[in-house]
Amino acid sequence: MNIAVCVKQIPDPATPYELDAENHWVIRPNDQVLDDTDRVGVEVGLQLAEATEGTVTLFSMSPSGSLQGIRQALAMGADKAVLIDDESLKGSDALTTARILSAAVKREGYDLVITGTESTDGFTGVVPQMMSEILDVPCLSFARNVEAGDGTVTIERQTTTGYETVTSALPAVLAVTAGAEEPRYPTFKGIMQAKSKPVDTTTAAELGVDPVSSQTITAVDPVAARAAGDVVEDDGEAYLKIVELLEQVKVI
Ligand SMILES: Cc1cc2nc3c(=O)[nH]c(=O)nc-3n(C[C@H](O)[C@H](O)[C@H](O)COP(=O)(O)OP(=O)(O)OC[C@H]3O[C@@H](n4cnc5c(N)ncnc54)[C@H](O)[C@@H]3O)c2cc1C
Repeated sequence: MNIAVCVKQIPDPATPYELDAENHWVIRPNDQVLDDTDRVGVEVGLQLAEATEGTVTLFSMSPSGSLQGIRQALAMGADKAVLIDDESLKGSDALTTARILSAAVKREGYDLVITGTESTDGFTGVVPQMMSEILDVPCLSFARNVEAGDGTVTIERQTTTGYETVTSALPAVLAVTAGAEEPRYPTFKGIMQAKSKPVDTTTAAELGVDPVSSQTITAVDPVAARAAGDVVEDDGEAYLKIVELLEQVKVI
């Protein structure tokens, strides 16, 4: 199976973000890491490739920087990567991202596109559905326990009450949930091999996509600080106060 895995390089969440004053965009550092959500997508892709003697190609739209995040995914075992690095894509919205990623996977060829359900820095959670619409193939969302069949893929689709078993013909787009699989740690051999795996870089123009976004960020405000909670001193009857509070919020 020819598997395309979309992976986002993001600023390290452990370091503070800086915004550019004019457009309110996050200033992307040279060293970006692989989004944790997409580690799960890479793991699912690798397991399917192992089961079907397939290949895993990574697709990422971001400033290349040191390629740290891409190398992390290659070190897990992916075969190669295609990076769309283009200044004209700065500030792109989700739709432009979906158009770019769709054009790139279409050009390379694919049986299955794997994405995360939502990135941990942008959070829009719409890129996979938009890609399936643009590519005109089915979208399997909130997926776990992914299994390859003969020209098909079957998933457990998580819902608010449990899960549904869904089978789709290939080609398709599949968005995995955060807990779908435990991502493997790269081995030392994998880390060394990742340094020489092919990484192709391309642009919006080469993909034939007009990089026009309809989204403008007009303001960014810090998250409001949480109000301090109430402290209930136990004078022997604190449980009565707790019962009263639980009744107020209709928990009991
Ligand atoms: C020069 C440049 C600067 C950028 N600066 C920013 C920035 O400051 N902040 C920001 O959030 N984004 C930035 N991006 C990336 C892009 O704008 C976002 O990825 C896009 O808006 C998607 O939104 P989301 O992350 O909310 O998608 P979601 O729908 O939440 O993502 C769901 C899944 O789609 C896939 N996906 C999403 N985006 C990408 C991507 N870029 N590459 C590969 N797979 C992807 C992943 O598998 C992800 O788990 C930049 C891109 C470029 C080229």
